[in-house]
Amino acid sequence: MTDRYAVIGNPISHTKSPMVQMAFAQQTGQDMDYTAILGTPGGFKEDVDSFRRNGGRGLNVTAPFKLDAFRYATKLQEGARLAGAVNCLLFEGEEVTGANFDGVGLTRDIKHNLGFPMKGKRVLLLGTGGAARGALLPFLEQEPSELVMVDRTVETANALGEQFAEYGTLVTTGYEQLAQERGGYDIVVNATSASLRNELPPVLPSAFGAGCLAYELLYGKGLTPFLRLAKDAGVQHVADGVGMLVEQLAEAFEWWRGVRLDTAPMIKKLTVPLV
Ligand code: NDP
Repeated sequence: MTDRYAVIGNPISHTKSPMVQMAFAQQTGQDMDYTAILGTPGGFKEDVDSFRRNGGRGLNVTAPFKLDAFRYATKLQEGARLAGAVNCLLFEGEEVTGANFDGVGLTRDIKHNLGFPMKGKRVLLLGTGGAARGALLPFLEQEPSELVMVDRTVETANALGEQFAEYGTLVTTGYEQLAQERGGYDIVVNATSASLRNELPPVLPSAFGAGCLAYELLYGKGLTPFLRLAKDAGVQHVADGVGMLVEQLAEAFEWWRGVRLDTAPMIKKLTVPLV
């Protein structure tokens, strides 16, 4: 029987996951089916139970169900436990394992696709939401010389700093304090949702160091206010989250099917020019 997978979210009509995962299946000769499920608000458990009864083997999980998926899992990978959110599920009999590949995909994109290893570098992460939390462990594992997390709600950042203390040094701060400290970071990652509303997080041009990479998690929108700020500050290397999207889907595919993929053609296909 063909193995069944899907992405679940609400809304879901915009999703590129079925196109990407079916292209991966074709690329690697895997016999699988992958669809999109419009999740029912408040009905995640029933939707997933039904998918499993009908032969579902795994799910990609997108907004607003990452916390529901966290609760649904009977077993969590370390990254998902620390992020407090699950974006991928694997079903094996009664066991449901939850993983979170957002941060791993982001790190892989920055390091391998864009050629910016973090080891020994100064990294600035804007935001403390789900995507930023998922990035903390994979970022710390790269051993940057400094990882600074900044948020409007500094208490949230501070709490994360304490939670992640055993995994490395995470400096947490607010935007006002950041502006008074030395800038010049090697990698600046916008993991806020400000760009969704065409807003700019209150970061100064001095945050960008010489030869810096400015990375916007939102993808497919061209130059966001954050990327425009970076460009106006003279930053030559700017990227959006299309590579992160494809890489986290590839991580899920590898976890489910045991096959590593060449992600470059898909990233190229989905890239919207940053102009
Ligand atoms: P959340 O809603 O969980 O977190 C939002 C964060 O943004 C909070 O820290 C919030 O701060 C901050 N924020 C919102 N508006 C502003 C502003 N105007 N100035 C400063 N900070 C602001 O969002 P997610 O973590 O789920 O998503 C963040 C971004 O990442 C989105 O753009 C999303 O589209 C993108 N994303 C991309 C993925 C990819 O594959 N490329 C995958 C997942 C997400 P506060 O706490 O003060 O409210």
